[in-house]
Amino acid sequence: MNNKFLGLLFVCTLCLSGCRILAPQAINNSKQNIAPELLQANSLPIERGKPRAIIDGVGWVVGIPSKLLLWDSRIDNHKIGLETEACVAEYLSQNQMGHVKVRLNQYRPWDDMKRLTKNKSMAWPWRYSIGTLSVLGETIVPGRIFGGDHFNPYSQTIHLYSDVPAIALHEAAHAKDFSRRRYPGTYAALYGLPVVPLYHESLATKDALAYAQETDDPALQQEAYRILYPAYGTYVGGAIGSVLPMASFPAYYGSVILGHAAGRWQAAQVTPKDPSIASAITEREE
Ligand SMILES: [Zn+2]
Repeated sequence: MNNKFLGLLFVCTLCLSGCRILAPQAINNSKQNIAPELLQANSLPIERGKPRAIIDGVGWVVGIPSKLLLWDSRIDNHKIGLETEACVAEYLSQNQMGHVKVRLNQYRPWDDMKRLTKNKSMAWPWRYSIGTLSVLGETIVPGRIFGGDHFNPYSQTIHLYSDVPAIALHEAAHAKDFSRRRYPGTYAALYGLPVVPLYHESLATKDALAYAQETDDPALQQEAYRILYPAYGTYVGGAIGSVLPMASFPAYYGSVILGHAAGRWQAAQVTPKDPSIASAITEREE
């Protein structure tokens, strides 16, 4: 059995189990570990970068591979609409996460560095080592050009460059997961190890799916399956590649393609919880 075949076998197994691993499940954050300093300083939880036609245009082009990979033109489009903003705002409010900052296509590394100093729920050795490097990374490789929606646990900041509510929910779910950790620095550092991100990522995706289900918005639920499943596939592929470097190429693209297939299949199963919505859809279809 050659390595390529072994890699593909791994991909198939992981992706097939992925459907079950990624079943909707809300994160329980009833016990929070939030720095009061961060909460106090966060009077404006959501900030938006000024539109800059040339920079955002370059960013849009740089984001073409990601648009193709997740098959959605809104990925890294650097133009975040009010629907996405409202979606993440509602999520943060419902989960009592006033300490989290959301930057919508905004570049503010100096402010993020200040937030890092205030994030006192995380032990300082983590913040002033990996944490500082992570904010420096965001400074040198700015998301406004290179895209890449993410949550930085060291500065407790969500950076969004894609106009996709499901992705905004997924990043906010990472923030929720961190807000309940007793040792958030260790939990963040573990993410840097091979294969481990699969755990963090599955929790965030499951929570986003559960939240979408709870809102009883079938379109949001379907979007979450369609986007977050193949996005999880990128991590599965990365994990396989870290264990079997020879198979990293087929593993990566194989996982993403299977993620698309599984996500679309799950999206097709979505039915609204509220019977009045269900009957309205049936009437429209008839
Ligand atoms: Zn994630």
